[in-house]
Amino acid sequence: MRARASEAGYAARRLGARRVFVVTDPGLIEAGWPAALAAQLGAAGLPYSCWSGVTPNPKDHEIAAGHEAYSASGCDVIVGIGGGSVIDAAKAIAVLSANGGQILDYAGVDQIDRPIPPLLMIPVYGWYGRGVSQFCVITDTTARRKEILVGRSLVPDISLTDPRLLTTMAPELAATTGLDALTHGIEAYVSKAASGLTDLHALQAVRLVSQHLERLVDSRSDADARTAMAQASLSAGLAFTNAILGAAHAMAHQVGGALDLPHGTLNGILLPHVIRFNATCGRYREVAQALGLDVTDWTPRRSLTGWLITYGRWPIASACRADSPSWASPKRIFRGLSAAPSRTYACPRTRGRRRPAM
Ligand SMILES: [Zn+2]
Repeated sequence: MRARASEAGYAARRLGARRVFVVTDPGLIEAGWPAALAAQLGAAGLPYSCWSGVTPNPKDHEIAAGHEAYSASGCDVIVGIGGGSVIDAAKAIAVLSANGGQILDYAGVDQIDRPIPPLLMIPVYGWYGRGVSQFCVITDTTARRKEILVGRSLVPDISLTDPRLLTTMAPELAATTGLDALTHGIEAYVSKAASGLTDLHALQAVRLVSQHLERLVDSRSDADARTAMAQASLSAGLAFTNAILGAAHAMAHQVGGALDLPHGTLNGILLPHVIRFNATCGRYREVAQALGLDVTDWTPRRSLTGWLITYGRWPIASACRADSPSWASPKRIFRGLSAAPSRTYACPRTRGRRRPAM
């Protein structure tokens, strides 16, 4: 749903809130968005408590600390305002508040038994897809790998998609969240779980990212680019929460959990390699069309090669813009991948089905 974040107070009231628990992170506080949210909650007559102990790739011990803060707060509705890490942390705190135990007890598909508190999400910086998804990704700091919670109860009750929240985003963050949305769209479209409904959203996301991401990286004051990229992220989220994802995400989570690296850039680096590997057996002709490529005389690898070479430089370049080129070497990523702990997932209640990657 596209809406203004200023509707947050009204939305929390609709969820029956008497006191609101706000989950965010220090960077967002510095950018001023939680203060704007507090004003909206105040205008709606809602007291609130704020917790900002989340870091990128949210950790199991952070969730335990957040749950403790929630339990002591007397709050009854959880509002997450932030990027993917904040949204995942807000969901995980809600899971613990209703079900107890440790967050990693609920890893897997449909492991959450009791209903969780109402969730209102206000995604920022292009993480709009996370605001409509049934996934929650938490880092197991002991095993140094990411665990995934999956279930319909993790879909937030209300998610506010407001493109204005992209205005304070740094260019490198615009690039990495855009690359993540692109990966969501492509992997959802070529997924074996894709359907007619997810195809519409997936291709729309690919089309919008290819047309608007560079414009947004160049200028966050470009209102058309902001609106298009917000729509792209939301469409990609609607696609992947139903069609699930693929090998790029599966590998990005392994490396992200082992080395604590940014999710979107990892996807950007890994995606060209996955496409090259899968190009002949997937539905890449339609993907190439959505990317704006010429598909006459279509031969998968040859037709995609030029785009892959150009695109492959993107995540590296954006990471270099952030003055952090040291980890952005594909060699280091693949070394991290081979060193990352791995296992075959089997959930008792899903009879050995592998966990989907998010
Ligand atoms: Zn992703």
